[in-house]
Amino acid sequence: MKTNLLNFDLPSLTAYFAEISEKPFRAKQVMRWMHLGGVDNFAQMTDLAKSLRTKLLDKAEIVVPELIVEQKSHDGTRKWLLNVGTGNGIETVFIPEDSRGTLCISSQIGCALECMFCSTGRQGFNRNLSVAEIIGQLWWANKALGVTPKDERVISNVVMMGMGEPLANFDNVVTALRIMLDDHGYGLSRRRVTVSTSGMIPQMDRLKEEVPVALAISLHASNDQVRDRIIPLNKKYPLKDLMAACQRYLVKAPRDFITFEYIMLKDVNDKPEHARELIQLVKDVPCKFNLIPFNPFPHAGFERSDNNRIRVFREILQEAGFVVTVRKTRGDDIDAACGQLAGKVKDKTRRQQKWQLVQGVS
Ligand code: SAH
Ligand code: SF4
Repeated sequence: MKTNLLNFDLPSLTAYFAEISEKPFRAKQVMRWMHLGGVDNFAQMTDLAKSLRTKLLDKAEIVVPELIVEQKSHDGTRKWLLNVGTGNGIETVFIPEDSRGTLCISSQIGCALECMFCSTGRQGFNRNLSVAEIIGQLWWANKALGVTPKDERVISNVVMMGMGEPLANFDNVVTALRIMLDDHGYGLSRRRVTVSTSGMIPQMDRLKEEVPVALAISLHASNDQVRDRIIPLNKKYPLKDLMAACQRYLVKAPRDFITFEYIMLKDVNDKPEHARELIQLVKDVPCKFNLIPFNPFPHAGFERSDNNRIRVFREILQEAGFVVTVRKTRGDDIDAACGQLAGKVKDKTRRQQKWQLVQGVS
């Protein structure tokens, strides 16, 4: 079988070249061709010796997941469903804004963590994505947008907020992050790459040592009672421990704050007393809040908070001195909004079946 070079960051590609008796600087050249140049064909790598190109053709390949379908939203958001084999598909979303372009990347096929409000969580879980499948989303998006990263940077920010829990696929996500940050890869700044986690504390501690990028935490509740109910992982890593982990992360973080994502679920977590409780909870963690109006999906069992509730909640936090943004819903006409990414998951956990039984859905 041929080796897919998209699975390597610079150190591992250098090691691979040593294995095939090639000089270390060749790894840098090939990295630049693949990522900055968007090239997937060795024949086009014109500054490599012909003998090396022939050797690579024989032993190696550059393969990204192929497109199944592309959708474009009226607001400019684009969503790609990519084929990751055996009937599975993952989703990648590009969100253009005036001052930046953000790519939202998936890390797993489905997700094993079963958050109650999340469509991906309901889909069940199949497997972790490989490095090539993770970085391949960035490679592919540049291609689909008609951009060569070395000439033009249309994708300025990456958020690991697509399908899956990135820290549950730790090694592959870390390698992909290294490629994003590497000057021979995509050369993105650590401040412009964000990992979002539902709160896997040991992996947060490892991430800060290995590649401290910007961190967003899916907080979504102001106390353990509510959080236990909507995010099962909270039973393992409760809020007090999560706040302490956030403080530890900030020692190494590229930004001096954590972003707390807070989904607004009608009557569940959106009352003024929740906002006040939240202020107490985060008092020792420099942070910003990003309120996310719940995006519905079929049989979700939750409703979006009404605008008035969201406004009051926001004002209470702002009056306490916090920076608060309310996430604009983008791409909801193509189901590309947060929590709506479902891809095509061949569920190995039988969760879809379980949910259908619980909810009486046929
Ligand atoms: N697994 C990671 C990253 C992917 S989810 C995490 O949970 O952080 C990206 C964000 O969308 C998370 O904050 C998640 O809680 C939120 N989200 C999930 N379902 C949602 C929904 N139905 N409406 C709005 N946001 C949702
Ligand atoms: Fe997984 Fe994140 Fe969805 Fe929870 S919110 S099920 S961790 S993708």
